[in-house]
Amino acid sequence: MRTATKTAVRHQYALVVDTNKCIGCEACSVACRVENEVPAGHWRSRIVPPTSGGSKVPMKWSCMHCADAPCVQVCPTKATYRRSDGIVVIDAAKCVGCKYCIVACPYGARYFDEKAGLPDKCDLCVDRLDSGLEPACVQTCVGRALALADLADPSDEAAARIRSGEAGPLHPELGTKPSVYYVVGK
Ligand code: SF4
Repeated sequence: MRTATKTAVRHQYALVVDTNKCIGCEACSVACRVENEVPAGHWRSRIVPPTSGGSKVPMKWSCMHCADAPCVQVCPTKATYRRSDGIVVIDAAKCVGCKYCIVACPYGARYFDEKAGLPDKCDLCVDRLDSGLEPACVQTCVGRALALADLADPSDEAAARIRSGEAGPLHPELGTKPSVYYVVGK
């Protein structure tokens, strides 16, 4: 298990989802909902069942933290931006609630929190990361199917699965360069 550390060291975070180990229990979704106080009827992270979208296995689905993120490109106030460590976040103080980002996201990863008047999505539990903790979904995953990867760390085992091509992005043809990678098949 890798642990995020709050240091001056540069990180380049990614998430590896090993669908061979996912049992579809939704523990990650529940942990995310509790950690981030996601309102009923919405989600930051969910399990897409095997029958959806042509998938043959349960798929964890959340913000892909795209390097070329359409949500970042359309935001008129730069409220949505990508941190140097690769995490796409929303600055609530700058957001005007225009919802352009929700429309722009090709992964359908954002929702609008009506009560807050703001869009919301997975931020890899950035406050936990900055405190040296793993994202809630990673920490809770029953099957150890989820792993936080640091592509800036040459010794990181999860990052090695990305570099080797064992783990790949969903819908790379969209051209957004996602930072969530999936291991599919044995
Ligand atoms: Fe933005 Fe959607 Fe990409 Fe997340 S998945 S970075 S919300 S475009």
